[in-house]
Amino acid sequence: MTQKRQKGQLIVLSGPSGVGKSTVISELLSERPDIYFSVSFTTRKPRVGEEDGVSYNFTDRATFEAMIARDEFLEYAQYVDNYYGTSLKIIQDKLDAGVDVLLEIEVQGAAKVRAKCPDAVLIFISPPSFEELSRRLHGRHTDDEAVIEGRLNQALLECRQIPNYDYLVINDKVSQAVAEIQAILTAEGCRTKYRENLMEGV
Ligand code: 5GP
Repeated sequence: MTQKRQKGQLIVLSGPSGVGKSTVISELLSERPDIYFSVSFTTRKPRVGEEDGVSYNFTDRATFEAMIARDEFLEYAQYVDNYYGTSLKIIQDKLDAGVDVLLEIEVQGAAKVRAKCPDAVLIFISPPSFEELSRRLHGRHTDDEAVIEGRLNQALLECRQIPNYDYLVINDKVSQAVAEIQAILTAEGCRTKYRENLMEGV
């Protein structure tokens, strides 16, 4: 017998830029279409192929800062000179409706979610090595050398936060990384605290 918890599960996924999070996430979502992927707000300029409202809600600094002032973010952070943030209302509505929500956010934002939502599951996706991460960042031909350098330095800092996460998944092979995330989510759903009404009379 399966028991659907009343509130949705908040899932936080972090990992250095270039680690392959988008590929892992799109594979995961094709297997789990019931999960709602939160589209973040950012002041970063769109990359080639990125669509407004799909990859991100692209916005300018003034609009983003007005949203901060109105307390509209569950969390937000500055990352390599740009703001990134998660809308509080959209996430709250989904969780209240029992829908699982996936956030793809960096480490400062994840720490804020951890503080505000202790039941969130925090998963860190790591590259097999830094050499491989550098190769992947150069391979996507979207950023210049200075930006890549900044992202590699940032990656080092981010990996130091791994102990603050519940789970570590190495993205060597996408299918394996997705299988591990699925296993984590299955195990999380089996926690006794979410299954109390299966234990009535015990
Ligand atoms: P990129 O510019 O490569 O798309 O993203 C840069 C970093 O920002 C990534 O580590 C990504 O996970 C993170 N990010 C994306 N959306 C959000 C968000 O809403 N909040 C926070 N804190 N980080 C985000």
